This record gives sequence, C-alpha cells and structure tokens, in this order.
Amino acid sequence: MTHDLSNLHPATRAAQALGHIDRETGAIIPPLHAATTFERDPDLSYSRGISYSRNDGPTQSLLEKMLADLEGATASMTFASGMAATSNVFLALPVGAHVVVPQVMYWGVRKWLLEQHNAGRLSVDFFEPGPTSNIGARIKPGATRLVWIETPSNPTWDVTDIAAAAKIAHDAGARLAVDSTVATPVLTRPLAHGADIVMHSATKYLNGHSDVLAGCLMAAKADEFWMQIRSVRTQLGGVLGPFEAWLLLRGVRTLFVRVRQASASAQAIAARLSKHRNVAAVLYPGLPGHPGHDIAKRQMQGGFGGMLSLRVKGGEAAAVGVAARLKVFVRATSLGGPESLVEHRASIEGAGSPCPPDLLRLSIGLEDVGDLIGDLEQALDGV
Ligand SMILES: *Cc1c(COP(=O)(O)O)cnc(C)c1O
Repeated sequence: MTHDLSNLHPATRAAQALGHIDRETGAIIPPLHAATTFERDPDLSYSRGISYSRNDGPTQSLLEKMLADLEGATASMTFASGMAATSNVFLALPVGAHVVVPQVMYWGVRKWLLEQHNAGRLSVDFFEPGPTSNIGARIKPGATRLVWIETPSNPTWDVTDIAAAAKIAHDAGARLAVDSTVATPVLTRPLAHGADIVMHSATKYLNGHSDVLAGCLMAAKADEFWMQIRSVRTQLGGVLGPFEAWLLLRGVRTLFVRVRQASASAQAIAARLSKHRNVAAVLYPGLPGHPGHDIAKRQMQGGFGGMLSLRVKGGEAAAVGVAARLKVFVRATSLGGPESLVEHRASIEGAGSPCPPDLLRLSIGLEDVGDLIGDLEQALDGV
C-alpha cells in the first residue's frame, strides 16, 4: 500500500519513502528483507520478479525507486560503493573504447582510469578545468563513447556546464555521465540538463551519516547500455547488501533538510573566511569570485553545497598546522556526514596529485555554524 504523492515536491516523497506503507502489518517504515533467494512458482517462473540477491532484492528495489525519483530518472541501480557504480559504467563499454574524463576529479576514479588506460582496456583522455570547449578538444568524433564529468569537482569545486557538456557528447555520438555526489539531487538534477547517467557515491550525502558505503546510478533511459551495466553488476556482484540498503533508505528521507543546512553553513563559512588574513583563497562555487559561480547559479538551485576548500597562506606546513589546531572539525577523509571534516588532500592523494599542497578540504556538517566559524578562526589565527 502506498499513498499517492506523485504530484508533490521530491522532498515530500523522499521524507515519506514514496508513501510506502507495509501491506501486511501497516508499518510505516519499510521492512529489511535479508533473504538471498526467493521462491519460484510451480511453473518455474518468478511472478514476483525477484530470484536471487545478486540480481535484485526487495529492500534494494524500493530504495532504487526512491533514488530514481530524486533524479527524475527512468531507472536506478544501487552498488556496494561509489567506485563499484563508477567502474561498472566503464566496464560496460567495449574494450579499448575512448572516453573523456576530467583532469580534476575524485582521486580514486582518476587513478583507476589511468590504470585502465595503461593496461590498454580503455583509451582515456583527460580534459583541463575551464571552459566546456576543453571537453570538445578531447573528443574523437566517432570513437568517443562516453564523457564523464564531476560537478562541482573535488577538491577545487570547479563547475561544469552539464547542458553544454551533454551537447558536446551527443553531437559526437557519445553519452554523458555525471558524478553528482557533491551537488546531490537537492541542488542539481543532471538528467534535466541533458545527462544520460548520474552517479552518486551514496556513502556521502545520500546516506549522510558516515556509516554506509554505497553507490548508485540513475538513467534517463533504460536503454541497451543501461542493460549492459546491469549485466556487469549481476556478473561481478558489486551489489548493495540489504542492511546497507535499508540504512541508506533511512538516510535519504532526511536528505533535503541536511543538504540545505550544510549548504547554508558552507556559504556563511566561505564568506567569513574569505576575509581572514591567513587565507590565500576560499574555493567555493557560491562565492561570486569563483570561476564557476555563474554556471553554478544557473545549474544549482537552493544552495551551492556543503564542500569548500581553503588555501592557507604559508604553504603546506601552515595548512597542516591549521588542521592540527581544529577542535570541532574532525581530521578524516570522506564527506557529507553530520560531523564536519577537514582533510589535507595532497598528502592523502600522494605522488602525482594535482591538488595544491596548501589546500585544506572542508566538509561542512550539521553543527552550529557559529561553532564551526569559531573553530576555523582560532585555528587560522595561529598561523
Ligand atoms: C567518495 C566519492 C567517490 C567514491 O565513492 P565510494 O563510495 O567511496 O566508493 C566518487 N566520487 C566522489 C565525488 C566522491 O566523493
């Protein structure tokens, strides 16, 4: 049983898990089905649509409906991590396919793609941050199968114009996939701007509590390529477990309120720290001086996200010192949880990282914004 929320705001449907009410018990919270295998009919069919949990599961299916709804998608698939979701897209391409991806992007994806390229499994070209024509410059008409963008992108929060990137990809006969982990469907819905596939590390904002590793894909069309990705997922088994799916379903219900709060706090922190004498630069798409601000204003609704970076005057040692003095921010990797995190990216990314050594990445959580500003100011005052 569900009540009909179809004409209402996506925030309403997310908060009510699409209006799900358990048929048998009346429970207003969806159940967790741990079963790995499902009964077959006497005629050997599966009239209930589910056979084995490496294909599908009932808890995952409800979650996938919620995720598809968030992005205005036709279909969604959940995965064991954001990396599993991402790699399954690339593994669904023919061996040797040409792909165009950003120079500045989530480090783990960049590193894996470089290895795929070096092993001859994919032909990968990296485009420079800046105008969308940088993407066009890397396209090989007729050969490029996929353009991958991340916006805003780690850790400088460069913004890519999704509609312009979609046009470039489609004109060349390629698909556009968007890593929208940082924007979240609260602030941007890439499919509405012409993207074909959206990816989220659901480990971050979608779950929002730093306690689930998960990934997902959402598609504008459940076409042949989508079915190929689904077949890779079933064969390699990078599916999401039912307990993680259930927790993620719970996290998604509070997505809108969490993202709106984190964005408002990040905007206030970015504005305040831009004036600090020991800050060389604040990188945040919500600041008018950020190179992606104009595109972000068109493409992002209701805020610019909870992620920002600081470049600290005095270089790497000064930046590491600021992170050491923070008392409210936790020094840890990842993002999108209730607790604010600080990370020195260059040292975690290691050799070959394009990240400047004086950069600290901040994930703004749900604490009182005055406490966060106070903590950052005392740590920066000590430079
Ligand atoms: C964390 C992250 C990933 C990888 O996701 P996992 O869930 O850690 O596998 C990919 N892209 C972005 C932008 C991320 O923040």
